[in-house]
Amino acid sequence: MAKRILFIDRDGTLIIEPQSGNIDSWDKLEFLPHVFKYMNLIATEFDYELVIVSNQDGLGTEYFPYEHFQPIQDFIMKAFKNEDVNFEAVYIDGSFKEDKSPNRKPRIGMLTQYLNNPDYDIENSFVIGDRITDVQMAKNLGCKGIWIHRRDGLGLKELTDTVEVLRETSLALETKGWEDIYDFLKKINS
Ligand SMILES: [Mg+2]
Repeated sequence: MAKRILFIDRDGTLIIEPQSGNIDSWDKLEFLPHVFKYMNLIATEFDYELVIVSNQDGLGTEYFPYEHFQPIQDFIMKAFKNEDVNFEAVYIDGSFKEDKSPNRKPRIGMLTQYLNNPDYDIENSFVIGDRITDVQMAKNLGCKGIWIHRRDGLGLKELTDTVEVLRETSLALETKGWEDIYDFLKKINS
């Protein structure tokens, strides 16, 4: 059977995103409330492949060296693995917004292998993220978005559709937290 995927954002979705800048030191690391509890249930009760898709502005440059990113990223992955949450793949784009990279969310350059591929059921997959650009990415992929909407105004300049159009066409759920996401997925999987 074709696999369904949850394309999950990292900053703002699995971990809290600081008001500005990257998570480049340990004191900035904080997980979203109840993310372990509900990601564990999602990973163990339902049949989705779990994939992380993240923009990390300037990763690999002087602005954000790998040494400031990778140990924290590895720690995050290990913390989830210890809760039986295993990510099949992690896609990180390290460009800046101005670069207009085809790989930067909401663009889908890193994910083309999932499209027009009989192994994957993209229509019944979801993008889970905290920015409207994550919903835009869902539209670009041909699936639906689950929006953990905690702050307004993020990512508006990177949209090709309006927020209204995205809400109408590509939004499956708008919520403030993980319990709702679990409940939503439980409903469609029962
Ligand atoms: Mg985010």
